[in-house]
Amino acid sequence: RAKEHGKSRFKVFNQRMHDEALRTLELETDLRKASDAGELYVHYQPIVDLENWTIAGFEALLRWSHPRLGPIGPDEFIPLAEDAGLIFILGREVLASACEEAVRWRAMLDNLPRNGARPPHVSVNISGKQLMQPMLIGEVESVLEESGLDPRQLKLEITENVLMEHIALAEGMLARLRRIGIGLSMDDFGTGYSSLSYLRQFPIDTIKIDKDFISAAIHDKESEAIVSTVISLGRSLGLDVVAEGVETREHLDLLRLHGCRYAQGYLFSRPVSAQEAEQLILEGLGVLAT
Ligand code: C2E
Ligand code: MG
Ligand code: MG
Ligand code: MG
Repeated sequence: RAKEHGKSRFKVFNQRMHDEALRTLELETDLRKASDAGELYVHYQPIVDLENWTIAGFEALLRWSHPRLGPIGPDEFIPLAEDAGLIFILGREVLASACEEAVRWRAMLDNLPRNGARPPHVSVNISGKQLMQPMLIGEVESVLEESGLDPRQLKLEITENVLMEHIALAEGMLARLRRIGIGLSMDDFGTGYSSLSYLRQFPIDTIKIDKDFISAAIHDKESEAIVSTVISLGRSLGLDVVAEGVETREHLDLLRLHGCRYAQGYLFSRPVSAQEAEQLILEGLGVLAT
């Protein structure tokens, strides 16, 4: 009986593995055509400056609307794009769209009667495969040139894990990117295994505290202590600190208590279309102001 039971479990397991493999294969095939088919687009989520309640920047987040399966999240399709070698083309497209959009934000503000406001920067996520490809440097330079974007208005986000997996190589690439004049953020800080000393070693200017720490910090004193430490360490190293995944008023109050300057999350806005992002720039975040 035990044997039979084992057998059937094996069969179920096998079936599931088969289904997953099939989905992966299918998605990979579809992803190759997705860009030309117009199924890919970029959404933008505001990063809020809590000191003056303005939009400091927007993070560019890739979206895929699959014709049959509906929306597929980047957590699922970015790894597929990396495995299939598609990430280089997709990454360049996201970078180009984001830079073109940021140029528009600047032009919009320049055309306002009462200007003087700094145009929001755009933050673009870069995967490990992209960072390890020296071609990235030339691509960033040419996208900046083609779009006419001021390098100071562009930031690249690289996850802590990617940086820690290839420390020496990553350091060299970051140094070269820095020389172009763009900003660099360490993304998902706290989820990896880096020691705090690496914050000094890498030529970054921003740390983004992972959303899991923000949500844990309101229930658990240890997580709160970590958040607080990262905020003050970042400040004393002259780094900007962004809290990710700020969903509630409670999250926001805690971050303010610990002196965090920048925040991003559903409390302010979900990632929105380019058109809605422009609207947010024009209308501001007034509704939430206190
Ligand atoms: P990430 O860079 O850490 O981006 C933040 C993620 O948190 C986004 O998920 C965003 O929609 C989500 N988020 C924002 N505010 C909140 C909140 O208040 N609560 C919660 N629970 N989540 C929030 P998304 O868009 O699904 O992206 C997931 C990941 O996929 C990103 O994590 C990033 O690593 C990757 N990704 C997205 N777009 C690109 C891209 O163009 N290129 C690369 N290489 N990776 C990308
Ligand atoms: Mg990011
Ligand atoms: Mg993140
Ligand atoms: Mg993430």
